[in-house]
Amino acid sequence: MKLFTHILLALLLGICLFKENVLFFAFLMMASIIPDIDIHIPFVAHRGIFHSVTAGFLSSLIFIPFSLSLSLAFLLGYCFHLLADSLTKHGIRPFWPHPYKTNFGFITTGGVSEQVFAYLIFALLVVKVLSIVIA
Ligand SMILES: [Zn+2]
Repeated sequence: MKLFTHILLALLLGICLFKENVLFFAFLMMASIIPDIDIHIPFVAHRGIFHSVTAGFLSSLIFIPFSLSLSLAFLLGYCFHLLADSLTKHGIRPFWPHPYKTNFGFITTGGVSEQVFAYLIFALLVVKVLSIVIA
């Protein structure tokens, strides 16, 4: 999926599941785009090790000395990315190095189905934010 869709989904799930501070949500959204860094690394397969819970867990450990909350936000944001990419037809290998690959996806990255998905997430996000503001 595209970066914007990842950020929207992470923000929606984060707001629905947690009542945290702005820094938590900033970390959550930032982590939700980190796995696609593999596109820019030579000789590393896209949707390989960086698209696994293994990499998310190990990289979240970096933040534990600074803040357990931010480390958790990073891991969750990372996993939200994996969840979103699992919904694509290409799938991911979430438990790398285990060979299991998700194959239940129905969304084409960058296609109309992703746009519809992103608009749906955006609409839900607007409703959630309005419900928070009005309450
Ligand atoms: Zn990805």
